[in-house]
Amino acid sequence: MKPVRLAIAGLTACSGCQLTLLNCEDELPDVLRRFELVYFPMAQSGGRREGPFDAALVEGAVSTPADLDMLFSLRNASRLLVAYGTCAAFGGVAAMNNGQSQRQELLQTVYGSEASLPESFAPAPFGNFVSVDWTIRGCPPEKEEVVELLAALLAGTLPPVRSYPVCTE
Ligand code: SF4
Repeated sequence: MKPVRLAIAGLTACSGCQLTLLNCEDELPDVLRRFELVYFPMAQSGGRREGPFDAALVEGAVSTPADLDMLFSLRNASRLLVAYGTCAAFGGVAAMNNGQSQRQELLQTVYGSEASLPESFAPAPFGNFVSVDWTIRGCPPEKEEVVELLAALLAGTLPPVRSYPVCTE
């Protein structure tokens, strides 16, 4: 059976979602045997962002033109694009500013009046720019959901849609 070609990458983020994958110690030998990790810069050197990929798991928010280029490139090269984690799904930490100020003001408050961010824009989730085939929520995601997704990818499909519990009291 042909191995599933995988890309795993991060945009503006803390890398915690990618770390969740690396923390699946029990499953990693199987993953390495049955998937071809073509591009996973956090965990390998020499990987190339050259598709086609069967799936791309991408964490982080889109915060810079470089992020957007990466997202378009992975979208174009991948049969399935997975928004991996809360930053990718909703903007997450990078998109928060408490509604208090504009990003330029925030930047100058933290880094001084000379700081500027001319080539950036408000961080946003993937769905604002490209079509997304699957979303894993969580900051970081639950390991069980990651393993469930990998198992489904091996079967050439996606996991069943989950319903998430809500607090009632
Ligand atoms: Fe980090 Fe959470 Fe964003 Fe994942 S969702 S990259 S763990 S901040």
